Amino acid sequence: MHTDSRGDSPETPVIPRLRGVLESIPTYKPGKPATAGDGPVTYKLSSNENPYPPLPGVMESVLGAAGSFNRYPDMACSGLMAELAERFDVPATHLATGTGSVGVAQQLIQATAGPGDEVMYAWRSFEAYPIITRISGAASVQVPLTGETHDLDAMADAVTDRTRLVFVCNPNNPTGTVVRRPELERFLDRVPSDVLVVLDEAYREFIRDEEVPDGIEVYRDRPNVCVLRTFSKAYGLAGLRVGFAVAHEPVAAALRKTAVPFGVSQLAQDAAVASLRSEEALLERVEALVGERARVSAALTAQGWTVPESQANFVWLRLGERTAEFAAACERAGVVVRPFPGEGVRITIGETEANDLLLSAAEAFRKEL
Ligand code: PMP
Repeated sequence: MHTDSRGDSPETPVIPRLRGVLESIPTYKPGKPATAGDGPVTYKLSSNENPYPPLPGVMESVLGAAGSFNRYPDMACSGLMAELAERFDVPATHLATGTGSVGVAQQLIQATAGPGDEVMYAWRSFEAYPIITRISGAASVQVPLTGETHDLDAMADAVTDRTRLVFVCNPNNPTGTVVRRPELERFLDRVPSDVLVVLDEAYREFIRDEEVPDGIEVYRDRPNVCVLRTFSKAYGLAGLRVGFAVAHEPVAAALRKTAVPFGVSQLAQDAAVASLRSEEALLERVEALVGERARVSAALTAQGWTVPESQANFVWLRLGERTAEFAAACERAGVVVRPFPGEGVRITIGETEANDLLLSAAEAFRKEL
């Protein structure tokens, strides 16, 4: 072992210098997996996944792509881009893909913000926002939710000349609440046109409230609006990692520059194309989940819980100090939910049996309150 130029003694191991900012960044916490094997089997309601297996056409296309593992994927994702351009009636130059929409969100921050800049979002919202913001060196501006939903007036008031990007998570993860057309338009009219507003619509397909605008319609005549979508939720491809953005130039071009080269595998690209082509069948499954969401929300409300109206594939219970206790009770009953310690629990709408287990656990817990 030798000393370094800083004069450390031979006993002090020399470690690579890492950026100090990393010390303050929590590692992204995935939803707890379901248990299998020897212990009691549990259902995973902790990651907002789709409980259904892939549709047959999707499986076949993935198996077909698996024959070319030795080759890099199509870096431009041309087949998928063409399919998306047609499906959403947007120019292919307005599209960019990434490793899940969280990958695209990180590309967006890299393209817009760095040290000295600000990235704004409601809080609590998607837990990746603070992480990817800090990695960039920019500061987070977190505007508290009011009544479990975005306070867009407060967010517009909080814009400064350092704001570079604002996330609006619609519906919001983890509360499931939405922002509707008039309030969103009022907000967009107030935000300076050189600040990028990202409408994160990871759960778009689950929305049934007609007052919630489709971000892709909103983006068309607003050059500072970008829409994020994913194949992970309704389309059931969470494990394949593919998401995309719809944005005007030069934002879409910047996203292509900040992408990890070859980040979206050929399996993911082909599965996404096949999913778009089986959309009708997929959307039937989404409809079933929306029905389950209504059933679970109504049953929880009847048990005495306050359930914010959710337009996503999950519901939110604000449990405060009892959050961890509730999550543990659910686990004992066979369902893993997502606790946010001291705040509340997010419960994914899953298969009927899983939802039933959740409802009985919630009822038993309620009786002990
Ligand atoms: N946005 C929101 C609001 C989310 O909840 C999630 C997933 N939890 C994502 C983006 C990212 O999903 P993915 O990277 O799988 O597309």
